[in-house]
Amino acid sequence: VNATPLKDRWKTCVLARPFGHAPAFRAAELEARAIRDREQLVTPRWSFRTFPQRGGRTAAYDTGDTTIFVPLFAGVDDGVTELVAAVCTIGDAMEQRIASLFETHEPTLALALDRLGTEELYRLSGRVLRMIHDTAHDRGLRAGPQVNPGDGTLSLERQDTVVALAGGARCGVSITSSGMLRPEKSLSFLVPLGPELEEDQVFGRCQYCPAREQCPVR
Ligand code: SF4
Repeated sequence: VNATPLKDRWKTCVLARPFGHAPAFRAAELEARAIRDREQLVTPRWSFRTFPQRGGRTAAYDTGDTTIFVPLFAGVDDGVTELVAAVCTIGDAMEQRIASLFETHEPTLALALDRLGTEELYRLSGRVLRMIHDTAHDRGLRAGPQVNPGDGTLSLERQDTVVALAGGARCGVSITSSGMLRPEKSLSFLVPLGPELEEDQVFGRCQYCPAREQCPVR
């Protein structure tokens, strides 16, 4: 079973790279936060659904409508009793404002707002993961390692499956013809549950991140 090791996944995170230290970058960050608040650009929405584990010990999960193969879960396979599919979004107002800033030739501010949108999305995904943990704990279950389509542990081609299982339509999230999420600032992920699983409190991409101590969302 092939899967990119967890320790390699932090590289994909834009927040692990500094935005810039020049005064112009700092000013853009402050202005981006003011725009976010003044224009109320963040509308958090989410949905998650739980499916009983009906597969064998093959990291393949039968959800009734489809079977989904999750290589990373092979290591915890025999302890998984349920699979949670989740999706969350901050809405599309932020991306529309970013596009308008590029049109008016304000790229630094556009990039600062884009980065802020990613920060908001990751903060929201952490909150949704905690909700999943809490509902699992209420039923005597524990949550194993979380994975995202396209993060090296689950094929990006399964994005549509994960979104459909999570109930993406309930929170306005859909898939483009190229397989990307819409609104752009959206995330989908899977979490295995079981009574004896070793619990992961930290979102998958963050576990080996060298910037974690300085991260605004962790
Ligand atoms: S801790 Fe997580 S969200 Fe923060 S920079 Fe690292 S990978 Fe990104």
